[in-house]
Amino acid sequence: IQVVVAIDGPSGSGKSTVSKEIARRLNLGYLDTGAMYRAVTWWAMHEGTDFAEPSAVVEAARNAPVEISTDPDHQFVRVGGTDVTDAIRTPEVTSQVSSVATVPAAREVLVQRQRGIIADSGRRIVAEGRDITTVVAPDAEARILLVASEQARMNRRGAQLGGSQDAEALRQQVVGRDAKDSTVVNFSTAADGVVTLDNSELTLEQSVTAVMDLVLR
Ligand code: C5P
Repeated sequence: IQVVVAIDGPSGSGKSTVSKEIARRLNLGYLDTGAMYRAVTWWAMHEGTDFAEPSAVVEAARNAPVEISTDPDHQFVRVGGTDVTDAIRTPEVTSQVSSVATVPAAREVLVQRQRGIIADSGRRIVAEGRDITTVVAPDAEARILLVASEQARMNRRGAQLGGSQDAEALRQQVVGRDAKDSTVVNFSTAADGVVTLDNSELTLEQSVTAVMDLVLR
């Protein structure tokens, strides 16, 4: 079947884990668009880009030679041959990524690439991020906004990071980043035709089942 599954949500909503699992069960590709923003950010930091200068950020987005895997079982990101799969998850990149994501012309570059990747998949892919249901693939067969309470999101991100973060730093990484990102993308309310799923009280398996039901209905 040809099916594009578009999943948006704030950080810590569990969308990456859920999306990957949906892709596995339906034998679809998987696109982590956040990893593309992170890879551009890594490249820009590496190149010494002046983040205060929007045109420099756009230039970095255009030139960053990002290569991203769409295999849910073998995820990697490379920039110009360097494997940055782990490097793009550091607190340094995480705290800088909104400087790329809030530049509209930089977003446009990434949106075009993401649409290309979806087309190359033969429209058999789960794509997740903040603007997939609204901008990247508003024509997706299934469009879902995954939300969770602030407490649930902080708990998950904390667990992901190994429980080593203090509460305030974690709060900044989750809530603070979402607040910055929200100035350019709306991922707190569902657009027309997008189904909202609140998974605050759901286990991973229950979230996956609920999303599967929405995709297959
Ligand atoms: O999903 P993840 O937390 O890895 O995303 C990293 C950052 O990339 C987000 O905080 C946001 O700034 C940006 N992003 C975006 N649009 C997307 C996906 C991610 O602006 N579709």
